Amino acid sequence: MKYIPTIGIECHVQLCTKTKLFSEVDNDARGKEPNSCVSPVDYALPGMLPRLNGEAIKYAIRAGRAMNCEINASSRFDRKHYFYPDSPKGYQITQFYHPIIGEGYVELPSGTRVRIEHAHLEGDAGKLTHFKDYSLVDLNRVDTPLIEIVSMPDIHSAKDVHDYCKELWRLMCHAGVTNGDLYNGNMRFDVNVSVAEEGSEKLGTRAEIKNLNSFRSAERAAEFEIKRQTKLLEAGEKVKQETRGWDDATGKTSPQRSKEEAKDYRYMPEPDIPPINLTKEFIDTESAKLPLMPMDYRNLFHDIIKEDVLEVLLDYPQLMNKLGEIALSSHLGHTQGRSAELMVLDGTTSAISLTSNLFTSVLLAEEKSVEYLNDLPSAKDLNELAEMNEKKELSSTATKEVFLHLFDPQMKGRGTKQIAKELGLIQENDLGALEKIVDIVLAKPETQKAQIDFKAGEEKVIGFLVGQVMKESHGKANPSSVQEILRKKLK
Ligand code: MN
Repeated sequence: MKYIPTIGIECHVQLCTKTKLFSEVDNDARGKEPNSCVSPVDYALPGMLPRLNGEAIKYAIRAGRAMNCEINASSRFDRKHYFYPDSPKGYQITQFYHPIIGEGYVELPSGTRVRIEHAHLEGDAGKLTHFKDYSLVDLNRVDTPLIEIVSMPDIHSAKDVHDYCKELWRLMCHAGVTNGDLYNGNMRFDVNVSVAEEGSEKLGTRAEIKNLNSFRSAERAAEFEIKRQTKLLEAGEKVKQETRGWDDATGKTSPQRSKEEAKDYRYMPEPDIPPINLTKEFIDTESAKLPLMPMDYRNLFHDIIKEDVLEVLLDYPQLMNKLGEIALSSHLGHTQGRSAELMVLDGTTSAISLTSNLFTSVLLAEEKSVEYLNDLPSAKDLNELAEMNEKKELSSTATKEVFLHLFDPQMKGRGTKQIAKELGLIQENDLGALEKIVDIVLAKPETQKAQIDFKAGEEKVIGFLVGQVMKESHGKANPSSVQEILRKKLK
């Protein structure tokens, strides 16, 4: 008997708005004292009323459009009741009946499509830290805006779990709606796994593995769960519907609690926040702000950038933006929204190819790469660098050196050519000028023996002579031109 896994994923994305979803306190609590970013609204002091953050609505529209989703013109909030010390309100404000984001899909790099059922806005809960016989509560995260993205059960392998989580992370980062800081829990995945006999029309009983915070643990947890459930079924036992936790260290899931049903939460419409009604113009304006998405870049650059290099670069929206600028700037000004008809400009191919290699092999290898990412050289400077490299005015080593100096605050604004000049890296390609330098070297007593040896068939001394010319030119001569001239003169 063959068993087929069926997997759906819920993902919570923390939005990077300035303030929280219902109050005006700082939404970025990283590195701040516990309970220092909390408004009385967040812990529901009697008499306090929430006020919806309009930015969060705009972010939700962009996030929805990044997943090809319908945006619902009207949506509203509900209260989801539960009692736990991480939420002094006693309920979470979420969207249960009328979410803001409707159906859509995410396309994985492999081409597999995972449909999105819906996505909704909601406030986060606080954080508990447990010690031996007591726990501490930190409410800084209460009502940080989240969108919860609910996929359809379209995933059938642990690898696709990984690829879906990663692509979702990239989409949200490219859309600019989250800091995407997985280490700080900016995106958390709940993976629902069930297994059923091949050909069976009914899905198996599912277990939900909650709060996975990396692509790798989501993949490993799914892998473990598929095996565990398959074993149970093969032994003629039943899978229990439950919530399970994942332990990265042991590589195992274990039961946490039996799954609640909607009725346990006593959902009711949130009376303190009016429904959200969006005009078509508003939705269109926000949708148009969506920059190019990973799939747009794959379509644009598949002939120019090698796939493995491109997949690395796609993790860095700033780098892709810059490549997009090089490829498109001169005829579009800047990229307004998405377009299926985007094409790489003629003549920019070599600049894109060189720059993408410099990004992966030089920039990302630098210790300061995180700083550099937020302060990239202009498209004009990068274009010029590619041009000088292509014309052999800069050797490949010199190209890398000039590239790094483009980030130097002391050299900022001077332009590629000026920097290359100041560093003395421009290669001498003027054959007349090179010939004069070669003549000087050939006239020197210390090269006489080498010249005689070369003429006598001693091939390898050409290297010595080229080296002498390079030295005489202070490293600026183009070595292949030098060799050519030497060979001609020593015939
Ligand atoms: Mn949720």
